Amino acid sequence: MIPAGASSERLHRVILAVADAVIAHEAELSALDRAIGDGDHGLNMRRGFEAVRAGAGEIAALPLPEALQAIGTRLVLQVGGASGPLYGTLLLTLGREIATDGANLAPALTAAVAAVMARGRSEPGQKTMLDVLAPVRAAVSAGGTALPCRLPGIAAAAAAATVPLRAARGRAAFLGERSVGHMDPGACSAALIVAAGCRAWEA
Ligand code: ADP
Ligand code: MG
Repeated sequence: MIPAGASSERLHRVILAVADAVIAHEAELSALDRAIGDGDHGLNMRRGFEAVRAGAGEIAALPLPEALQAIGTRLVLQVGGASGPLYGTLLLTLGREIATDGANLAPALTAAVAAVMARGRSEPGQKTMLDVLAPVRAAVSAGGTALPCRLPGIAAAAAAATVPLRAARGRAAFLGERSVGHMDPGACSAALIVAAGCRAWEA
């Protein structure tokens, strides 16, 4: 999906757009986390993506694999909570697996989502970020035309589909039945990241 010769300007644009989207949605992410967690997901993600934003220029100048790993390292160091190591694992694995030209995005993303599942001892259906990451991964693997245009809708629908789920992982799992009726904050942040990244990619 990532054509050969992904320019550093394009990568820079995508990094800034994703960081800005996460930062702009801090209040929404924390409100979701207040309902079924401890209320810090927006703050955690803002901290992480401010660090990414601050390094955007130097990160975008790196080859794609190193750039993704640099983002993953910043997320591990800065986000904290349960989501930091998981988003960090996603980006670090994606960076380790992907080719410099991005041509193997589908298998690299498959490996990265599998690494998140292993790290979180979790799977789709448990009301977590994986409920967005897994369908996005599946859509990337299926391929087809206009994928970057279709992925934001797929991710948003997947995040909305976490509302009726009962949480089986993370803090929300302690609420049992009371976790039903709220969108998972990590699913929401994952959908935001996918949407902002795809739109900036196409811009
Ligand atoms: P914490 O739960 O430590 O306060 P955050 O609030 O930043 O951390 O992140 C919470 C989000 O992390 C959840 O909404 C969920 O999407 C994700 N999450 C938590 N535990 C897991 C897990 N085991 N596997 C996948 N995702 C998880
Ligand atoms: Mg939290």
